[in-house]
Amino acid sequence: MTTRATVTGAGGFIGHHMVKYLKADGYWVRGVDVKPPAYEETEADEFQILDLREWSECLLATAGVDEVYQLAADMGGIGYITSNHADIARNNVLINAHMLEASRVNGVGRYFFASSACIYPSYRQLSPDVIPLKEEDAYPADPEEGYGWEKLYAEKLCQYYQQEGKLLTRVARFHNIFGPLGTFEGGREKAPAAICRKVVLAHDGGEIEVWGDGAQTRSFMYVTDCIEGIHRITHSDHPAPLNLGTDELISVDGLVDLVSRIAGKTLRKRHDPSQPQGVRGRNSDNSRLREVLDWEPRITLENGLRETYGWIESQLRQAGRVPADGLAAVASGPSQTP
Ligand code: NAD
Repeated sequence: MTTRATVTGAGGFIGHHMVKYLKADGYWVRGVDVKPPAYEETEADEFQILDLREWSECLLATAGVDEVYQLAADMGGIGYITSNHADIARNNVLINAHMLEASRVNGVGRYFFASSACIYPSYRQLSPDVIPLKEEDAYPADPEEGYGWEKLYAEKLCQYYQQEGKLLTRVARFHNIFGPLGTFEGGREKAPAAICRKVVLAHDGGEIEVWGDGAQTRSFMYVTDCIEGIHRITHSDHPAPLNLGTDELISVDGLVDLVSRIAGKTLRKRHDPSQPQGVRGRNSDNSRLREVLDWEPRITLENGLRETYGWIESQLRQAGRVPADGLAAVASGPSQTP
């Protein structure tokens, strides 16, 4: 019999890729979001525009399906999540509380929740040369204000539903997902997409703005690895949160240099320390992921960035915004990730 799944956040970056993956795997899929996907038609069998902060809309979203992939959230890059704590916390707590209970009421078989590396305590992320974060490092808690606290609380809700036999829940903590078909401008984009955009828009020999001093470090995971990991974790027998990321650590300056090399451009960096830059360093310890799934992400940062850069360049070219070579230009805007 065909497995039926709901993907929430299906108008967003990871949700849209999730729909495509499940369709290719033979699922019947309902996509749900407050908006349709921005860059491509959905492949979902059914796409419902619903506001998941509303209990009644969560009941509609979760009716008659075997699996729920809860990827809807009010979120964005570091600029957005550091300046909208109240909206983010309220919107996401409503979505997550209602989605869990609606899934229980509707007898959903498996429920996946997308948590984040932002739940890890800031006191473990004070140096660029950071020790990779293990799952148990989450406590004593001191997560990112707003977004991180809400994610940590939603993890707890999933744990309680699981422990009390109300719903089978699985949780992954994503570490900076990037790839084609993701937001690359407007203020909600993350560092890899923002840097690709700035490099596309800069003339060879020009300058780009980098938020912070550029020494802050992160690891990044390509979206197709993320989707495969979500599916594997959802079908695993591991009920506790798992890291889902790579352990290929790079500084923001290193990311700019890598994208510049992919683009074949020589660019100067203009650092702006007044802009938000998030924690000093963050990396994923994948020991438990390997142990539980006998699998880990495979796509290198460089290969993933080549795909992402190519896609963002094609979008900007179609919009007639790629500059002719020769003149010095400055491209600015967010270049940091939570
Ligand atoms: P995204 O912003 O592209 O997608 C989220 C989607 O949720 C958006 O399309 C948005 O319209 C939708 N949404 C917001 N409020 C809604 C509501 N009230 N009702 C229905 N839909 C609503 O983000 P993404 O990168 O695809 O992230 C997907 C999930 O992964 C989110 O839960 C996010 O917090 C989590 N996550 C992402 C990353 C990352 O690096 N991208 C890292 C950690 C965690």
